[in-house]
Amino acid sequence: MKTFFADEQRKHDPTMFLSSGAQQPNPEKPERVERLLAGAKAAGSEIVRPRDHGLRPIAAVHSPEYIEFLQSIFLRWQRIEGASAEVIPNIHPLARTGRYPASAVGQAGYHMADTACPISADTWGSACWSAWSAVEAAEAVLAGERSAYALCRPPGHHAFADVAGGFCFLNNSAIAAQHLLGHSKRVAILDVDLHHGNGTQGIFYGRSDVLTVSLHADPVRFYPFFWGHADERGEGAGLGYNFNLPLPRKTADAGFLEALEIACGRIEAYAPDAIVVALGLDAFEGDPFGGLSVSTPGFARIGEAIARLGPPAVIVQEGGYLCDELSANLTSFLTGFR
Ligand SMILES: [Zn+2]
Repeated sequence: MKTFFADEQRKHDPTMFLSSGAQQPNPEKPERVERLLAGAKAAGSEIVRPRDHGLRPIAAVHSPEYIEFLQSIFLRWQRIEGASAEVIPNIHPLARTGRYPASAVGQAGYHMADTACPISADTWGSACWSAWSAVEAAEAVLAGERSAYALCRPPGHHAFADVAGGFCFLNNSAIAAQHLLGHSKRVAILDVDLHHGNGTQGIFYGRSDVLTVSLHADPVRFYPFFWGHADERGEGAGLGYNFNLPLPRKTADAGFLEALEIACGRIEAYAPDAIVVALGLDAFEGDPFGGLSVSTPGFARIGEAIARLGPPAVIVQEGGYLCDELSANLTSFLTGFR
């Protein structure tokens, strides 16, 4: 299995975010890349640089005004007297039915769900290369590979079509899925990150051409709070094509694998030609977010269960934060997947 990654993905280096109102160091650090690369290499994976795929695959998922915002907001922010070094919102529309503002501050609130996705000079470039890694992995699967791993950083599954959030700017899993769809593939996205893939759900919520399935810590008391409940099943043409499996806090291997079996049953019934796996390693028992209790060997069993489904898979890195076992957890998943 090849790993797709570009050095430019290291440049985005957010300094802070607010956690329960307190300023904390941002956990989505470039150091994650070194650990994940080590984990992929230990699984015998070759590291390959993606090509520049341009705006087309990104614009197939994200709105024109959001893309323009991500490209321009840092420079515009610098012109505001006394503004922070990174773009961080301080006001949000309660409902997004009001007018689109011309102000940089207003647009930051409109396009950024929380404070966990600060935008610096390097953010747009890193986010593009992260998305292109996902596109390149999708291309590898289209060319006949059984699986490919996109080391996507920054991650993507909390990004909606026009909103950043939770360390995410461009929804790499959705971009990979849409790219496969553009090549006449029937696609399911399986999200095993600790957190609900709210952006991915939002992008495909009204559509039946991509099945979205997510296993995650119950959002009733966990980020992203407002999405991820079992009764969110899609709407309109998409009704029945979104499937959430919220899990009690501290669910360990047995409980996770049991829910995964149910998720896999739903995917089998959909009979996709290809699967996009939104691979969060933050369901790990030792992850700093501490929401679920999957073990290192547990990730191999998760990989095995998904591989048994049969269709080729684009594995897209989502969460998973700095802890001693981050490399080993990726190695375990990729080894199990084979
Ligand atoms: Zn996560």
